[in-house]
Amino acid sequence: MIGKLKIYNTLSGEKEVFEPLNGPHVGMYVCGPTVYSDVHLGNIRTFMSFDVVYRYLSQLGYKVRYVRNITDVGHLVGDADEGEDKIGRKAKLENLEPMEVVQRYTNGFHNEMKVFNILEPSIEPTATGHIVEQIETTQRILDQGLAYVSNGSVYFDVEKYNNEHNYGKLSGRVIEDLISNTRTLDGQDEKRNPLDFALWKNANPEHIMRWPSPWGEGFPGWHLECSVMSTKYLGEQFDIHGGGMDLKFPHHECEIAQSKTASGGKEPVKYWMHANMLTVNGQKMSKSLGNSFLPNELFQGSHELLDQGYSPMTVRFFMLQTHYSSTLDFSNDALKAAEKGYKKLMNGLATLNKLTYTEGEVDQKLEEIINKQLDSLYFGMNDDFNTAKTIASLFNITKQINKFYLGQQEIGAVSKDTFDRLNQEFKRFVLDVLGLQEENTTDFNSLLTLILDEYKVSKQEKNYDKVDAIRAALKEQGILIKDMKDRIDWGWDDQ
Ligand code: AMP
Ligand code: ZN
Repeated sequence: MIGKLKIYNTLSGEKEVFEPLNGPHVGMYVCGPTVYSDVHLGNIRTFMSFDVVYRYLSQLGYKVRYVRNITDVGHLVGDADEGEDKIGRKAKLENLEPMEVVQRYTNGFHNEMKVFNILEPSIEPTATGHIVEQIETTQRILDQGLAYVSNGSVYFDVEKYNNEHNYGKLSGRVIEDLISNTRTLDGQDEKRNPLDFALWKNANPEHIMRWPSPWGEGFPGWHLECSVMSTKYLGEQFDIHGGGMDLKFPHHECEIAQSKTASGGKEPVKYWMHANMLTVNGQKMSKSLGNSFLPNELFQGSHELLDQGYSPMTVRFFMLQTHYSSTLDFSNDALKAAEKGYKKLMNGLATLNKLTYTEGEVDQKLEEIINKQLDSLYFGMNDDFNTAKTIASLFNITKQINKFYLGQQEIGAVSKDTFDRLNQEFKRFVLDVLGLQEENTTDFNSLLTLILDEYKVSKQEKNYDKVDAIRAALKEQGILIKDMKDRIDWGWDDQ
């Protein structure tokens, strides 16, 4: 391993050296999507940020168990304890089964993950698949005396928890401020304190998604699923928990309170990581603000902010060019620059593949420079997964690759070992760590038209050798040229 990986831990507010609890195994949990609508590019940025974390840890040799859930129940409109379930509401609006809504948008989500080359997690549990465990955990918290039943719902007692633990330590909020900033209860309320949050909610008669429980028919609170599924698959204490910055409070704060109580006081997560937001004109991209973009609008360039379409890998490059903890503003100009940057890296890759090593006189200084450049790929990623730094190093290495290619520098000026290392590390960081892929954006039909034009000219010039050569070359590709009376066309070779 080159250098030490450091992770900015939201819990401590510091960059810390990464030391897994049970190395070489690493447990990582990331809050997944609520599958009631299409994922927008903001969501994709967060999943891409953690994709790179997963990829880099795996490249470092860790055996990562990566759990990313699907929220298919319990996330209420407005993110608090009141209102309809997001999925239930969509099901009513579209006259569908809630599970039809869930399936449709889960499929859509998976599709987008593939398009952006975001790897599948090791386990993708659903909230509805873990109702029994959520009931059990609610009971355990009740048994600890840190929750209470009210009208068939169960609420977590935040103030009582705070007497022994620090509610607000992740998000830096102070409970006294939180109390003074929340509305007072109106006497009708089921909660003892407005800060309390639901572990289990009693379902009113209109509520579609409901399960039997010791407290009557109802459904789990939104925060509970993540406590239950993370600890079920990763243990009561695990290494990394991630999600978007907007989930820090209350979602993750509540998760800590629940998990800690359920385990009898153990700190559930060693490193909390939060990915920053994708913004549009400085404002968070979000469905409810109406400024969200769907991937297709971007690929087709059909959005009013864009003057052309951009490919998935251009978008991936655009996102990774900024460190995950900074906000990233969406703009046509930035995407245009990213398109060039991405192509530069792909050219570097193609050029590297054309180089063959020949022995020469080794220049120790160059040898050192190149090895340092290669080390810096790790130093960038080791610095809290700073993809921006690593991309800058990749550009420097691309310059070196081009020097070899253009003959400005003898390849033999570096040792075979260093050349092999260059080859291996460059590909590793571009393809495996950053997850960039070659994209075939050339248009098959336009290329074929060019060739057929050349064929036509050769025929007119009676250059039959060339005519035959073009015919033979296309036949080899499974394409037959058709000489028609008035034109030249082509078809697949079916003979
Ligand atoms: P949701 O489906 O709303 O639960 O969100 C899924 C993930 O996307 C969560 O981790 C959110 O924090 C994240 N997210 C939502 N909006 C944005 C945004 N504009 N930029 C980056 N991440 C976002
Ligand atoms: Zn979550």
